[in-house]
Amino acid sequence: MLNVDSVERGLVIDHIQAGKSMDIYRILELDKLDCSVAIIKNARSKKSGKKDIIKIEDKIDIDLDVLGFIDPNITVNIIDGGKIIQKKKLTLPDTVTNVAFCKNPRCITAVEQELPHVFKLVDRSKVTYRCIYCEQEYDSKK
Ligand SMILES: [Zn+2]
Repeated sequence: MLNVDSVERGLVIDHIQAGKSMDIYRILELDKLDCSVAIIKNARSKKSGKKDIIKIEDKIDIDLDVLGFIDPNITVNIIDGGKIIQKKKLTLPDTVTNVAFCKNPRCITAVEQELPHVFKLVDRSKVTYRCIYCEQEYDSKK
């Protein structure tokens, strides 16, 4: 049972792969929020041993596509009155813009700096994303 008693109203981003919470904090630009944000690292998880959790004490809109791209196993709980009122399921988005960056030095995005970096889902079962310009595969491990 997720302990949400410290959050009265807001969001709890749960089941983050251990060690990934700072990446999510940075990508979702949570540093720009005025409300309190708590990061819990290496919380115990029955499923995967360890996990990270982010608690945000405000009902903000977060980009669920971006979270789904980072890890579709993450869950987002909406909290109101100290209780979970909604659990959002994440899915792999068809495209992501300026979340992943193409590392191919011959890609047009390396030359045309103003172009958005867009990756398209080409294989849902294998979770393969490719750059829409040069088809370079995105490798989340790098
Ligand atoms: Zn590219």
